[in-house]
Amino acid sequence: MVKGVSLFFILTFITMTSVSQVPFSRQLFDTYDTYAAPITSNRFTHAELTQHIDGFATSLNGILTVEELGRSAEGRGLRLLKLGTGPTKVFFWSQMHGDEPTATMALMDMLSYIRDHRDSPEIRRILSETTLLILPMVNPDGAERFQRRTVYGIDMNRDAARLQTPEAKILKSVRDRYDPEIGLNLHDMDPRFTVGKTDKVAGIALLTPAFDYAKTDNAVRLRAKHVAAELVGIFSAYIDGHISKYDDAYEPRAFGDNMQGWGTSTVLIESGGWKGDPQKFFLRKLNCVAFLTLLQSIAARAYDKADIAAYDALGDNTRALYDIIVEKVTLRYDKTIAPVTVDLGIHMDEVKKDGTIRRQARITELGDLSTFHCFERINAEGVTIDASAVKLESVVNMDHLRTLLSK
Ligand SMILES: [Zn+2]
Repeated sequence: MVKGVSLFFILTFITMTSVSQVPFSRQLFDTYDTYAAPITSNRFTHAELTQHIDGFATSLNGILTVEELGRSAEGRGLRLLKLGTGPTKVFFWSQMHGDEPTATMALMDMLSYIRDHRDSPEIRRILSETTLLILPMVNPDGAERFQRRTVYGIDMNRDAARLQTPEAKILKSVRDRYDPEIGLNLHDMDPRFTVGKTDKVAGIALLTPAFDYAKTDNAVRLRAKHVAAELVGIFSAYIDGHISKYDDAYEPRAFGDNMQGWGTSTVLIESGGWKGDPQKFFLRKLNCVAFLTLLQSIAARAYDKADIAAYDALGDNTRALYDIIVEKVTLRYDKTIAPVTVDLGIHMDEVKKDGTIRRQARITELGDLSTFHCFERINAEGVTIDASAVKLESVVNMDHLRTLLSK
């Protein structure tokens, strides 16, 4: 009888804990619009970010501390945000590539949620069991120009060993000062990767970077793999099949690889692509949901039960997608060359002109694209157009091209 009763309680406990995890993530997802930070363009500047952080410094007074650690080459402040008093330190850093803003927005969303729900059991537990270290927009000079590299033209993700840029020195200083157990290295990648050979766009790519050429697993990297496996489970609830594994070649100059080697269990999260969402606001939302759900799992010491096989089984990040493929169009040349039938691969680039952001079509491939996938396929079988309208690497007016193809 006693045994039966305790079994009942154990089963009830297991059921409650396993059920409660799903609603938190789902609640974060379903109520996102009620707490998301008011950032409406992915081209926000360091000055705008500073305003958001100043706002949190006030609204989260007593919970959040903000400290300027130093300045970028051009003098923009890099500020570390610190919350929580728990023993497990989790370090988030974002936008070391200036044109990769998705996770910075998601971190502001996360702080907004914490501000609005600071008295909820989940947030209280996160803040008592973990210490959050957040260094958003590590490369503000690059962000100002919406470019990958710092103002020196250096890719700071190849400066982790030499530490020549002030931004790299500051990022390393947080690692040295706090020795965080877990690190999340937050980036954006080209939105046109697929998951392995499938036609599914990679919405998110994950990686537990190697710390040596042999890709050795030690306790630090294994812990990172548990974190990555937990993230696979969280993301899969919303984008099942759209999660890939990023290229795992060891890069001795990169931050993720070095952080792993320095002792912080590091997971790279790359926001990829999603159909009809060039500014990646849906992926931003998923990042926010994943950060908070992961923190809940870390606070409950549950993430290390996630099966590493879920991470190992991810398909490789594969370059196999165009925004648009025009299929089997016949190109007419001058008298010296006979007509030819080809597929056209088109990329839609985001470009800023006269202060406004436009999407601009560019022909990036021409030939047999039957093994590639796309967000939009235009069947042009039987249609002949002048070859001069679609030169390789040239910008094309899509409205004009669509008109030509419809004739
Ligand atoms: Zn990057």
